[in-house]
Amino acid sequence: MYKLKLSSLIVKSWLWEKDLNIKLGSWLFVIIVGIAISVEIYRLDGAYSIPTAWDASTIRVFYNVPDVHLADVGTSLATQLIYLSIARVLFSILVGIADIVFYRKVTGQRFDWNAMVNFAVINAIFLSLVLPPLTSLLTAYENFVQWMPMPRIVQMDGWVALLVACVIGDFCYYWSHRWSHSIRFFWNLGHVNHHRSQHLTQMTLAVDPPFSILNVGGGKAFVLVLQPLMARLFTTNIQGSGWALVAIMCVDILIDPSHSTALYYLESRLYLSRKTRPLVKAFRYVFVSNNVHFTHHSREKRHDICNGCNFGARVTLWDRCFGTYCEPPIQPPKTGLFGKPDYCGTPLRFILYPWVRMAKELYRNKWRYWPKILFGSTSYTPPVEVEGEY
Ligand SMILES: [Zn+2]
Ligand SMILES: [Zn+2]
Repeated sequence: MYKLKLSSLIVKSWLWEKDLNIKLGSWLFVIIVGIAISVEIYRLDGAYSIPTAWDASTIRVFYNVPDVHLADVGTSLATQLIYLSIARVLFSILVGIADIVFYRKVTGQRFDWNAMVNFAVINAIFLSLVLPPLTSLLTAYENFVQWMPMPRIVQMDGWVALLVACVIGDFCYYWSHRWSHSIRFFWNLGHVNHHRSQHLTQMTLAVDPPFSILNVGGGKAFVLVLQPLMARLFTTNIQGSGWALVAIMCVDILIDPSHSTALYYLESRLYLSRKTRPLVKAFRYVFVSNNVHFTHHSREKRHDICNGCNFGARVTLWDRCFGTYCEPPIQPPKTGLFGKPDYCGTPLRFILYPWVRMAKELYRNKWRYWPKILFGSTSYTPPVEVEGEY
């Protein structure tokens, strides 16, 4: 009994209440930080897949666009796409390391090593929590949509098909992402985690928990439901796009690392220069640059247009159409959550707190409030609040 009490006390005080605080400079610090950096590099575009890149049969050229089958394009084009897939990973790692090295220069603050270790543990846990039944259910659905007789609104091939696929892919992502910010269930149990970094860099952020149905912002759930349908209606055969595939993949690689403080600094410098400003403006007019997505992580009131802003992943078109686009400020905005924060500096509390909070809300409020607690707007607060309790 005594032992049980003691161990629950240790769990409560050390794993739940106490934030991570590794002393800088010790050997333990070097080892832990080394492991954390390895985990984060692993996360960055599947870094350790480089040795097997040569054997790839499909390659992603643009986020939320169906992968290209290398057997269906010419040999030299296939080789270029493989080189680019390796360049994608290397660029991602380079930006991650630049964020650590230049963090103090850009923000005037010390790089948050404890946050990086915290997020590395969280990401390692999240990335190993994939539910195979849900994943296979979504694959079965995709196969069903491909087989199902449906009218084809437009049949397209080549580079036009590629552009349309990019725009359709981002339309699905836009709504998936916007809903994940506005519906309590998907926000509080899923996407909120990706927004809980107060010192945002490529190395200090949590991935969306990949429990499939909760991974809304990360491009799963709704995207996987919407996109096969859209792709079936607008049949877009991108295999014959030729070198347009290389061009669009270069853009995708450039804007893939979109949480970087080092890139924020660089983009702002280019924006401030009279010579390069038109180029940056034109780029942002079409694409989601690093600073555009970084502003999506802002906790500043001016960026709270609709439970946030800049929901697009790759193109700014849908944010502009639906009035949710915000021009990035010159200085990186303060990042994190609007309103009452729940940052949690220890992995266990970070992962479990949103679930504990939701359970407490259900337990303390009458059942007639349950539908709103679960699926109401994220701005809804139940009569008995539990926000801010750990
Ligand atoms: Zn988001
Ligand atoms: Zn993000």
